[in-house]
Amino acid sequence: MVAAVTPTDNRYERLPDDVRSRLNSRLQMISTGENPLPPPAVDSPPPKAKPATVSLRNVSKTYDNGSRALVNVNLNIGKGDFLFVTGSSGSGKSTLLKLLYGQERPCSGEVVIGDQSLTRLRGNRLAMVRRRIGVVFQDYKLIPRRTVAENVAFVLWAQGYTRKEIHRRLWPTLKMVGLQGKAQCFPDQLSGGEQQRVSIARAVVGTPPLLLADEPTGNLDSENSLQVVKILKKLNSIGITVIVTTHNEQLVRLSNHPVVQLRNGYLRHLRR
Ligand code: ADP
Repeated sequence: MVAAVTPTDNRYERLPDDVRSRLNSRLQMISTGENPLPPPAVDSPPPKAKPATVSLRNVSKTYDNGSRALVNVNLNIGKGDFLFVTGSSGSGKSTLLKLLYGQERPCSGEVVIGDQSLTRLRGNRLAMVRRRIGVVFQDYKLIPRRTVAENVAFVLWAQGYTRKEIHRRLWPTLKMVGLQGKAQCFPDQLSGGEQQRVSIARAVVGTPPLLLADEPTGNLDSENSLQVVKILKKLNSIGITVIVTTHNEQLVRLSNHPVVQLRNGYLRHLRR
């Protein structure tokens, strides 16, 4: 159902960072003869998401060009929490999420996911942690010439799931985001809201305990934004820890979840 995508392929460049990283680590293990990540049990029910704990301890990040993105940030996110991170453009929101899924490293301080510090993790061990984090982006990052079903299935395929297990996970996930009727559509046949729901399905089809959403409603109108937030809340209600960045204050006002605000890299709690 899903054709192979390799690092020499043009389509590879268009894959989201987290998908590329998973694919890379799998290819690397195959080429070096290492045991691939343990295959998931076939025929067992999808594992219930085990909630994550996330901590940033005195974290600062300045990019190589001197841009200061985060300054001495301390943040604890409990198991099964739902947190909004607000702040204007350039305040450090994306950087905070990138540190949480190991795309960037802090200049000082420590990032801890569950009981693992990301600071010294590299290669396969970092890939293992990233497998347990779902990421949703503002611009969806879907593979254009693949159907909705293939876009979602691809993540599981890259992780070595069997065809049977992929099938078993795919349909409930598409149903959860209300897209079971669009499984065979291509991304350009979908509205922005639908594309974002595909990207949420892709992020959670592997039942990660932690979901990071970077401005998931940034390109959507208010009705679609509310729908996306409703789905994120539904995922949170089944135990997934959810962290959402947004500069949409209306969305934040309409909810009663905790809110932190970033301003020039400094973090403060607006609502606990
Ligand atoms: P936000 O997500 O709130 O818009 P970012 O985390 O993207 O903020 O950016 C915070 C600051 O870091 C900004 O000043 C931005 O220009 C800078 N920045 C972000 N990414 C990079 C990068 N890869 N290289 C250099 N500077 C960056």
